[in-house]
Amino acid sequence: MTDVQPANKRRDDKVVIIGAGHNGLVCAAYLARAGREVVVLEAAAQPGGAAVTREFAPGFRVSACAHLLYLLDAQVSRDLALESHGLKMARSNLRTVALAADGGHIVHAGGKVESGPVSPADRAALADYHARLQRFARVMGKQHNRRPPRIGGGDRSDLLGAALLGLDIRLLGRDDMREFLRIAGINVYDVLEETFESPLLKGTLALDAVLGTNLGPRSNNSVLTLLHRMSGTAGGDYGAVALPAGGMGTVTAALAAAAQKSGATLRCSSPVARITLEGDRVSGVQLESGETIAAGTVVSNADPARTLLQLLGARHLETGFAERVRHIRSRGTAAKLHLALDGLPEFTGLDGALLGERLVIAPDPVYVEHAFDHSKYGTASPEPVLEIVMPSVHDRSFSPQGKHVLSAIVQYAPHDAGAGADARRGEFLERILGVLGKYSPGLRRQIVATELLLPADIEREFRITGGHWHHGELALDRFLMLRPVPGAAQYAMPLDGLYLCGAGCHPGGGVMGSAGGNAARAVLAAGSTA
Ligand SMILES: Cc1cc2nc3c(=O)[nH]c(=O)nc-3n(C[C@H](O)[C@H](O)[C@H](O)COP(=O)(O)OP(=O)(O)OC[C@H]3O[C@@H](n4cnc5c(N)ncnc54)[C@H](O)[C@@H]3O)c2cc1C
Repeated sequence: MTDVQPANKRRDDKVVIIGAGHNGLVCAAYLARAGREVVVLEAAAQPGGAAVTREFAPGFRVSACAHLLYLLDAQVSRDLALESHGLKMARSNLRTVALAADGGHIVHAGGKVESGPVSPADRAALADYHARLQRFARVMGKQHNRRPPRIGGGDRSDLLGAALLGLDIRLLGRDDMREFLRIAGINVYDVLEETFESPLLKGTLALDAVLGTNLGPRSNNSVLTLLHRMSGTAGGDYGAVALPAGGMGTVTAALAAAAQKSGATLRCSSPVARITLEGDRVSGVQLESGETIAAGTVVSNADPARTLLQLLGARHLETGFAERVRHIRSRGTAAKLHLALDGLPEFTGLDGALLGERLVIAPDPVYVEHAFDHSKYGTASPEPVLEIVMPSVHDRSFSPQGKHVLSAIVQYAPHDAGAGADARRGEFLERILGVLGKYSPGLRRQIVATELLLPADIEREFRITGGHWHHGELALDRFLMLRPVPGAAQYAMPLDGLYLCGAGCHPGGGVMGSAGGNAARAVLAAGSTA
């Protein structure tokens, strides 16, 4: 198989970016700063993609998909001066509260147990485990802003990239390197069983590994996804999580402002229908309105399958390549629940001062695995797992005075959008409320409005194939130089002038901006060789 070489050998200043998700905006900002003429075309009425703040009931606002920040790249934040464009955190280093139905909650943060029924052995083990995973996650984090090397690629940057990756792993030292290589390919369930006694602690830590994936704790790759989640420091430190003031929309509003200030043009409500070609290179895009826009370079923030199979069309791709794209696994399992509440809820045995922290319902790893079992067979979990935040505790802009918003990522959700989807949504909502009721018996009476976005809704509203968090499963066979597909991991696609810049590329999903920045550098590097 031959790897794709950077294809845009012609200097052509105009770049069209399809999609104003956070990666599209980062890409736009870097390209515009480098003097390129950039037009960003976003289908939705507002920029931000799956990182937006929007009203879901009169007076109640919420971060509609992504709700916690932990991966946003520090260099991107600095380069684009996001603070000067309004980005600030309402809270960093949120604690995690592992909820127990009997009130025996465990509160932990940064590898330290703050309270709860945890043995001295587990307390010590958590500190060790967290520090070790942070060292491994740091190695992963160092790869974020590097273009993955081509397998067998012989140019200097490929050799340097491969050497740096090897060196980063080698610098872990003998014991850590062995452990890293041992656990990277196994499952988080086994690692947790080796390390801890407390089922509740293990359950909560298992959830961190599988959020956003179509994996259970016993699935291979679940250590990899855990390390990916921990590989940024935007939450305060590796593995920590933060709540941006004003929600995730503030992050993408700051990115949009940075891109526009650098000279990029942003057009919302402008869905692209197809990528146009002239011979065997891209010539621009055609909007659903029929308008055409000519450009020598088209960068897509849409997911790889949508970009290559729908907007471009498989007939323009070599058959084997198109097959690889078809095989990207994009079955989303994460749903998003938003509750408008007429007051602060009470959770059995939980100090009200902890309501603003990250609350997790994953009582033990077998529970999480059982929740996943149902999704394996295409049905909804009777007892899902939840990651809950109540942003209105920190930030009054989310709800009217005295009222509150609960935002929860819920796994594992049903997929299909076909006939009966509304009935299934109602049934799944009942199950979620049933689970929540075990921890907060009065919650149901406080609900004034609900919104439940299933993966099919996310696919529709945010135009993400399968509603998948990472625009396609993140796994060893879809990682680094194999992401999104082997042979095309350097952002340039096998068609002159076409690039990808979204979560489907290295380093994957989560609000981080690295894929957008790397794609911009790939476009500029190709232009500079013209
Ligand atoms: C339920 C859920 C919860 C999540 N929670 C978190 C979290 O708490 N923290 C976190 O860091 N990450 C979270 N994620 C993951 C994160 O939201 C995504 O990985 C991230 O938003 C991807 O960013 P992106 O810019 O690559 O793509 P997107 O955000 O998907 O943006 C792509 C953009 O392209 C646009 N587009 C697509 N097709 C077209 C077209 N034809 N024409 C014009 N525009 C088009 C879309 O409208 C969209 O705006 C979550 C994901 C889900 C699904």
